Amino acid sequence: MNLARFPRIRLGHLPTPLEPMERLSRHLAGPGGGPKLWIKRDDCTGLATGGNKTRKLEYLMAEALAQGADTVITQGATQSNHARQTAAAAAKLGLLCHILLEDRTGYTDAAYAQSGNVLLDKLHGATVSRRPGGADMAAEMEALAGELRAAGRKPYVIPGGGSNPVGALGYVNAALELVNQAAEMGLRIDHVVHATGSAGTQAGLVTGLVALNSNIPVLGIGVRAPRDKQEANVLALAERTAEHLGLPGIVRAEHVVANCDYVGQGYGIPTEGMVRAVRLLAEQEGILLDPVYSGKGMAGLIDLVGKGRFRPDENVVFLHTGGAVGLFGYPDAFGLPPEA
Ligand SMILES: *Cc1c(COP(=O)(O)O)cnc(C)c1O
Repeated sequence: MNLARFPRIRLGHLPTPLEPMERLSRHLAGPGGGPKLWIKRDDCTGLATGGNKTRKLEYLMAEALAQGADTVITQGATQSNHARQTAAAAAKLGLLCHILLEDRTGYTDAAYAQSGNVLLDKLHGATVSRRPGGADMAAEMEALAGELRAAGRKPYVIPGGGSNPVGALGYVNAALELVNQAAEMGLRIDHVVHATGSAGTQAGLVTGLVALNSNIPVLGIGVRAPRDKQEANVLALAERTAEHLGLPGIVRAEHVVANCDYVGQGYGIPTEGMVRAVRLLAEQEGILLDPVYSGKGMAGLIDLVGKGRFRPDENVVFLHTGGAVGLFGYPDAFGLPPEA
């Protein structure tokens, strides 16, 4: 595997830290002990408060510039972390940025509609417009790209979540980084767990870990689709990513595992488990998760630890994909105690 042949622009503060979660590990351990929990801090990638999309944008933005683009277009849910990181990357590179936000939750309160990620999209100078839930967002982006081309601009369209074989290279790179870090620390990683949505993170990670022959299994905790659909999406993108890398056929169905039992009522809709997980990490580790992705991912990890899914002598790495800015879009979800 030769990643260096793909154009890349440095946007993130890399490598991100890989740290033990000692208080959380103790807190969750049963009488027979429990797995040692670690956290890979991709919430600390630096760009506009960080997150997993920054790694994908290092490759996507490089391709945009190579194609002579002067404008980028992308889409996401109202509180999209991907949209926010794209807006910041475009600002840094001097490109215009158009963001289409899909109303996937139906929430109309000011915090959700205007604060958190939306506030930052606008602060970074992006043009924001809205579409109803269920809109064909890929078609909406193409229509906008057509208008911009007719007006003499050169738009580059980034799919939702930055999830295509170019964006997924960011997580192939993360797999390299993680395996090197573990080797340096003398850490045997037994499992990687993270929240999976548009599939690029898991597809890139799995492809990289398989290409390295690392034997480290990845478990994606779904935040939207049912399990069959999520696994099929990840596998299809992992296959295309491997092909893009010049390693066709290395990823097989057994490498792709998702658990979609923690979605609750739907994408972006809070669950009790998410609220408990966000509060627990804030109180036990001083770490901020997010309500849409990492909070549900951690809710899954906590539940699976309780069910004995991991052996007490195993090292489990939770990949923190970022998104804490989204907390400001959900101020009512957390039922905080009154002030003294
Ligand atoms: C986008 C996102 C994810 C999911 O990553 P995908 O590559 O879309 O599967 C997880 N966590 C956060 C905070 C995100 O913004």
